[in-house]
Amino acid sequence: MRQEQTQAASFGLNFELLEREQVQSLIRSPLFIAGLKRPDVALVNPARLAWGLRRACLDLGIRLYENSPVTKLEEDGNFVLARTPHGCVRAARVALATNAFPPLLKRLSYYVVPVYDYVLMTEPLTPAQRESIGWRGREGVSDASRQFHYTRTTADGRILWGGYDAVYYWNNGFGPHLETSQREFERLAEHFFQAFPQLEGVRFSHAWGGAIDTCSRFAPFWGTAHGGKTAYSLGFTGLGVGATRFGAKVMLDLLDGRQTERTALDFVRTQPLPFPPEPLRSIGIHLTRWSMDQADRNGGRENLWLRVMNRLGLGFDS
Ligand SMILES: Cc1cc2nc3c(=O)[nH]c(=O)nc-3n(C[C@H](O)[C@H](O)[C@H](O)COP(=O)(O)OP(=O)(O)OC[C@H]3O[C@@H](n4cnc5c(N)ncnc54)[C@H](O)[C@@H]3O)c2cc1C
Repeated sequence: MRQEQTQAASFGLNFELLEREQVQSLIRSPLFIAGLKRPDVALVNPARLAWGLRRACLDLGIRLYENSPVTKLEEDGNFVLARTPHGCVRAARVALATNAFPPLLKRLSYYVVPVYDYVLMTEPLTPAQRESIGWRGREGVSDASRQFHYTRTTADGRILWGGYDAVYYWNNGFGPHLETSQREFERLAEHFFQAFPQLEGVRFSHAWGGAIDTCSRFAPFWGTAHGGKTAYSLGFTGLGVGATRFGAKVMLDLLDGRQTERTALDFVRTQPLPFPPEPLRSIGIHLTRWSMDQADRNGGRENLWLRVMNRLGLGFDS
């Protein structure tokens, strides 16, 4: 954490290092032994963000078509045809931002795998339960393990608790049937009570999961298809709420054929390494998750597999 603080300072970012007593004065947990605090960040409610963006689009006169999945994209002269079960849209330009959903360009299925991340939400805490943990500041918290948890409080006094496992299902498994997993919910609950034993007996009112567009370098990538008439931006690996804004600006630059400061970045010009086909894909991902678990149990020490992956600039995360 000290290293991280120093590195952040070199970019002009203020990370405050908290010793055990300082962390405990904010949030009481036997597991929290030190922390880094960023006083200058805010939490975003992604549902409100999506509703706000929708409102902004409608105010600009943009037409939104819900429940109309595009099943195929085809190049047609100077246009791209987007086929849906209800009809076909002829577009001069297409910005493809399908996240972890099955991609519409075959090549993308080698670069992005859907990985499921699960979340629990408690009932509102009683005043006594609240008193037992402190946490008056509404801070968003995540732990420093390779398989990390994230947690935050809500305006109506609940605790959201999620993360840890990043579950990959065979052959890019995807769909609503994977959005609940009793096994994952039970494991998350067990971890919750290890973090906050003083809340023993608290019940969870909500539990859900969602897919994350994981790529092998943890950061998004871009590209074009159909002679530059289609651009894509994917691979946000669980960190897209803020970063998709940048992703969209790059897509617009690409669709306009403009060279900008953004399109000149190495990060924008390069692609991650593709995932191998099954069964190597599953074997590689499960071996990596197992190795990360071992590193977490072993004071962070990485085995040979993780060291080789690091050397190649490869990783796996949610
Ligand atoms: C449990 C969970 C926790 C997360 N926590 C965080 C977090 O703390 N911080 C963070 O930054 N990110 C987090 N994320 C990730 C974040 O939600 C995503 O990175 C972000 O939503 C990606 O935005 P997007 O616009 O690329 O995709 P989305 O918001 O998923 O939008 C993609 C849209 O494309 C539509 N679509 C897909 N395929 C088609 C098709 N064929 N035809 C028509 N429409 C289609 C979908 O319906 C959807 O509306 C989390 C994700 C999950 C699941």
